[in-house]
Amino acid sequence: MSSTDPIAADLLLERLAAIVGPSGLVTGDELRARPASWTRPAEPCTALALVRPRDTAETRAVMAACAAAGRSVIPRGGATGLVDGTLATPEDITLSTERMTGIEPVDALGMTVIAGAGATIAAVQHAAAECNLFFPLDLGARGSATVGGTISTNAGGLRVLRYGMMRDMVLGLEAVLADGSVVSSMRPLIKNNTGLDLKQLFVGTEGTLGLVTRAVLRLRPEPAGHVTALIACPGPDDGARVLRAAQSAFQGRVSSFEGLWPDFYRLMTAPGRTSPPLPHGSPFYALVEVECVPAESDRFLALLDDLMGAGTVLDAAVAASEEQRRAMWRIRDQVEHLNADGLHRAFDVSLPLAAMDSYVRGALERMSAIPGCRAVVYGHIGDNNLHWNTTRLDANANAAIDAAIYEPLAALSGSVSAEHGIGLEKRAKLALSRSAEEIATMRLVKRALDPQNRLNPGKIF
Ligand SMILES: Cc1cc2nc3c(=O)[nH]c(=O)nc-3n(C[C@H](O)[C@H](O)[C@H](O)COP(=O)(O)OP(=O)(O)OC[C@H]3O[C@@H](n4cnc5c(N)ncnc54)[C@H](O)[C@@H]3O)c2cc1C
Repeated sequence: MSSTDPIAADLLLERLAAIVGPSGLVTGDELRARPASWTRPAEPCTALALVRPRDTAETRAVMAACAAAGRSVIPRGGATGLVDGTLATPEDITLSTERMTGIEPVDALGMTVIAGAGATIAAVQHAAAECNLFFPLDLGARGSATVGGTISTNAGGLRVLRYGMMRDMVLGLEAVLADGSVVSSMRPLIKNNTGLDLKQLFVGTEGTLGLVTRAVLRLRPEPAGHVTALIACPGPDDGARVLRAAQSAFQGRVSSFEGLWPDFYRLMTAPGRTSPPLPHGSPFYALVEVECVPAESDRFLALLDDLMGAGTVLDAAVAASEEQRRAMWRIRDQVEHLNADGLHRAFDVSLPLAAMDSYVRGALERMSAIPGCRAVVYGHIGDNNLHWNTTRLDANANAAIDAAIYEPLAALSGSVSAEHGIGLEKRAKLALSRSAEEIATMRLVKRALDPQNRLNPGKIF
C-alpha cells in the first residue's frame, strides 16, 4: 500500500485519533480554515491532518505511527517563522504543539523553569516575572511564538547583545526523533561536559532532526531598570563607536542597539504613526537601551554629552517615562507599517559591524538601478544583524534585488540568515554562507537521525 493510498490515510488518521483523542485531530474544512502561517495569512493549511499531542508520550506514539505509515511530519508551533519552515504538502501530517503549553513552577533559587514546547514566549516571560525573575528572549511575535519554535529557529530578537540567542537560554530539552524514540536531556545545569551536548542538535535545526516537546530554560535576575535613548549620528560607523563607548561605560550592560537607516526612520514616523522624537534628515539613527539603576542615568547623559562634544552623536532624545520608552520601541517594532507601504520582501542578513556602512551603501546603489525597487534597512546592528524590506517586483527584478543584498556577503564573512533560519525560502541561498563540506556534514547528521527523511523534509536543504 503506498503512502498516498486513501485507505492507508484513513487507517493512519484512525490510529492518530486513537492516540490523541478525536479533539486532538484537525482535518478537512476545520484544518483549511486555519492560515498556513503568519507570512501566508490568506492561504489555508494543506496537510492531510494536523495532530495535537498533549505530551511527549503522545508525540512519541504519533511519530511512530507516522513512521510506520511512511508519512512525513511537519512540526508547527506558533507558525510565526518567516522562512516557510512549517509549510506542509497535502500528504504530510502537521504536528502542532498547541496543547503542550504547560509551564511548571519556577525554580526561583536555581533560576530555571520547565516549559512545554507549545508555551508562548510571553507566557514564559510572565511566569518568570511572577517570581521577580526575567526570561530575556524577546521578539515582536512573543504572544504567538513558542518555546519549541524559538528553540528550533534559535531565535534572536531584541536582547541578544546582553543575553545571547535562544541557544544560550536552553539548559536542557526533550525531543522525539523521527522513529519515535525519545532523547531526554532535561538537566537544569549550566555546566555538563559529558560528551556530545545532544540538546544542541535540536537548537536551530528547524525541526529537521527531532520534535522538541519540553525544555529547561535559564532565567535571569530582573533588570533593576533601563535607560533608553534614540540618537542620531553622522553614520553607522559612529553608531558603532557609541555602542563601544556605552559597553565600556556600563560594563557590557547595553541590552539593545538597534540601527535605523533614514528611510526606515522616516517611514516608521510618517504622519499618523509614532511621532519622531528626533527630526528627520540625519544620516543614521540608533535606539540604545542600557540596563542600569535609576541613579546611573546621569552617567548615561554625561556619556551622550561627551559623544556629542566629539561629533560622534549629532542629537539624542532620552525616554523620560515608560510611555516614551514604549513609543521609541514602536518605531523599531511596528514592522506591519512596512507591509502597508508595499515593502513585502523581508531579508535577514548578518555581517561584521565594521563593514555595514559600505555594504549598505553598495546594496542601495545596486537597488537604485532596478526600476520600481524601494528598500529600507534597519536591524539589531549590535548583533551584526541587518533586516532589509523591499518591494516585490517581477522574477528578474526580485533576483537582481537578491543579488544586491546577498552577493556581497560571502566576501565579508557574512550570512544570508542571521536569525530567521533557512526553511524553504532560503534553501537556494544556503551555499552562499556555508561551504560544501559544512553542508555535507549537515546532511550526514540528518541521515544519521532521520534516514527516511520523514521530519520536515525539504527544509534547510
Ligand atoms: C512579528 C514577528 C517578529 C519576529 N521577530 C523575530 C526576531 O526579532 N528574532 C528572531 O529570531 N525571529 C523573529 N521572528 C521569526 C521567528 O522565527 C519566530 O517568531 C519564532 O522563532 C518562531 O516560533 P514559532 O513557535 O512561531 O515557530 P514556527 O513558525 O511554528 O516554526 C518555526 C520552525 O521551527 C519548527 N518547529 C516549531 N516547533 C517545533 C518543535 N516543537 N520541535 C521541532 N521543530 C519545531 C517548524 O517546523 C519550523 O521549521 C519574528 C516573527 C514575527 C512574525
